[in-house]
Amino acid sequence: MADLDSKLSSVVGDRTAKVLTDAFAIRTVGDLMRHYPRRYLVRGELSDISTLVEGDEVTILAEVLSSTNRPLRGRKGSIFEVVVTDGTDKLSLTFFNQAWREKELKVGRQGLFAGKVGIFNNKKQLSHPDYEMIPDGDDVDAAASSFAGKYLPVYPATAKMPSWKISQCVEMAVDSLDEVADYLPESIRTAHAYPTLQQALVQLHRPADLETAEIARERLTFDEAFLLQSLLVLRRNALKKLNTLSRKVIEGGILQAFDESLPFELTGGQRHVCAEIEGDLAQAHPMHRLLQGEVGSGKTIVALRAMLAVVDSGGQAALLAPTEVLAAQHLRTIEKLLGPLAQGGMLGSDEKATQVTLITGSQNAAARKAALALAASGDAGIVIGTHALLGEKVEFKDLGLIVVDEQHRFGVEQRDALKEKAQKPPHLLVMTATPIPRTVAMTVFGDLDVSTLRELPLGRQPITTHVIAVMEKPTFLERAWARIREEVGQGHQAYVVAPRIAAGNDENADIDFLFGSESSDIASVEELAPRLHGTDLAGLKVAMLHGRLSSEQKESTMQAFAAGEIDVLVSTTVIEVGVDVANATVMVIMDADRFGVSQLHQLRGRVGRGSSPGLCLLVTNSLAQTPARVRLDAVAATLDGFELSRIDLEQRREGDVLGASQSGTQSHLRLLRVLRDEELIESARKDAQELIATSLDLTSYPELKAELNAMARDIAVDYLDKG
Ligand code: ADP
Ligand code: MG
Repeated sequence: MADLDSKLSSVVGDRTAKVLTDAFAIRTVGDLMRHYPRRYLVRGELSDISTLVEGDEVTILAEVLSSTNRPLRGRKGSIFEVVVTDGTDKLSLTFFNQAWREKELKVGRQGLFAGKVGIFNNKKQLSHPDYEMIPDGDDVDAAASSFAGKYLPVYPATAKMPSWKISQCVEMAVDSLDEVADYLPESIRTAHAYPTLQQALVQLHRPADLETAEIARERLTFDEAFLLQSLLVLRRNALKKLNTLSRKVIEGGILQAFDESLPFELTGGQRHVCAEIEGDLAQAHPMHRLLQGEVGSGKTIVALRAMLAVVDSGGQAALLAPTEVLAAQHLRTIEKLLGPLAQGGMLGSDEKATQVTLITGSQNAAARKAALALAASGDAGIVIGTHALLGEKVEFKDLGLIVVDEQHRFGVEQRDALKEKAQKPPHLLVMTATPIPRTVAMTVFGDLDVSTLRELPLGRQPITTHVIAVMEKPTFLERAWARIREEVGQGHQAYVVAPRIAAGNDENADIDFLFGSESSDIASVEELAPRLHGTDLAGLKVAMLHGRLSSEQKESTMQAFAAGEIDVLVSTTVIEVGVDVANATVMVIMDADRFGVSQLHQLRGRVGRGSSPGLCLLVTNSLAQTPARVRLDAVAATLDGFELSRIDLEQRREGDVLGASQSGTQSHLRLLRVLRDEELIESARKDAQELIATSLDLTSYPELKAELNAMARDIAVDYLDKG
């Protein structure tokens, strides 16, 4: 007999075990039981090919007539096409880059094929169908077992390990399985009316009917959410136990002086979030807070006030920015906001004043030396920088707060590297400009408290967005340039954004395939700027900004743009995050379909930041109704960043939703989909919180504790692997 931890080879033999390990990293019986079927083929519910209608989800029984593999024209990759018939009609099956399937889909063989009917070149087809070949004389034992039931599970498979073989291995595993201990506490299991772990695992592979399979799947999906949330609750509790210096707001300090000097009132939302943060900082354990807010909602001031509270307590704050452009801009903005309060150490300066310094990778030796000295002596209350801040030579006298701007560019590793530089565990404030749906926040940042700024400062002008479909209305592009000329005529400025720096680099060939466009057609900064300067925008001051310029060039261009010396900035997405030039009122985004939804929202957030309304024009070659165009229409239709972020995430694979730094977590999320399974995640979180509140270290739940420990180890190992 075997349990979930038993070696797979003890059940299926060494040879088969090795193939499964190589193909799917399946090593134990438990790993195999968790190799879940993708779907079930149902015997007796077959369709005739002649009756198929586009869009139907169907299963058919058919024989392979022919197969061909042809390379894609002008692109990497090939299409493997198989024609099958059931006597009523023919149907083609297509696979991208999977010529190896020829071994299974041999002419003359019969199989069950399932998928969604599409039409291509007037022919009915299934693209990437799931299938199960009816075993022929060579696989008699397969015929006996895996084809016996009514529901045939279809597994993720490879050439060497087809679905029916996996099915056989699972049969053997199920038959030899001892009683499986259930880590899910009985009270939670019964409250949801879930089957036991053993029942769920068996039923998923050998369902009596589809409803049973569905409940089994739900229980196992819930498990993933529950285990992850439990881990996050435990991690948060552990953080709460860490000791650190509390940073209480004091009377008559720099924070108060700053508040008095502010030329505007904080919004209600800003006041609320500031109070939450001050409450956190006053605690003797480190704050761990995520601040998410709409583009332009005024996160910088909120962060600055937190930094000043720490300065008031004699400590320092570090502000980590994702790019040099943004770090330099933060320095400018913060120095400007602080005014004389940033002039600490100067003759006759305000005694409450502090110093602000900048550390980046490309600054010259003298500047760097000065900045390092200011950080190490504690004279700089605020140290701003890029990832250069993480460098070995950077030291602080008393680092009390770390602010990470635009979180999505930094991994947990980088946060931790900076924490190392503090004497006591520092407070942490993570800011993200891309609002994220609640359940994603709960999954990715579940160990952080979340503050949200929804409101924009009063008097902010709305941004109007239009899609300019060049294929349908070529003359509209002229209108875009005309709008820029008008705005500049009124003393405003403009951005023109292009996806590429230079023409003709083919590194995006794969993407081109997906987008269905040729790379040579894509607008580039280096082509566009001179062309605009020479023709449509002749007479205007046009400058370029992109990542290949030196940091001095970038910095001086941004400064000149901020100072109004440049009318039109032709740029790549280096301006995407955080750039704040209030006088810029119009943005034209070329080949806008090349950008993600959230990215477009970020980009257009650069205009309409002052007192004049903003205009954003999304130029595209995409045709109406295509997915690319639907995305652009969505961006044009709403200014709600949460809504857009959801649309954006829905189009990505789950791994991308969770982010690169979450790969350890990902391997534990096989069934859970953070957008789809909102309710499940909410209830799993509630269950985890309630359970852990009754048994803080889970001593009453040893099985659960063991499962979580194993998972924590896995995640940690994965995390170290990435170096
Ligand atoms: P984001 O949240 O996108 O980082 P910023 O912090 O850059 O936004 O703020 C956008 C602009 O709004 C800045 O110019 C900032 O000075 C201004 N701002 C922030 N808070 C207020 C307020 N309460 N009233 C008026 N303007 C504000
Ligand atoms: Mg910002």
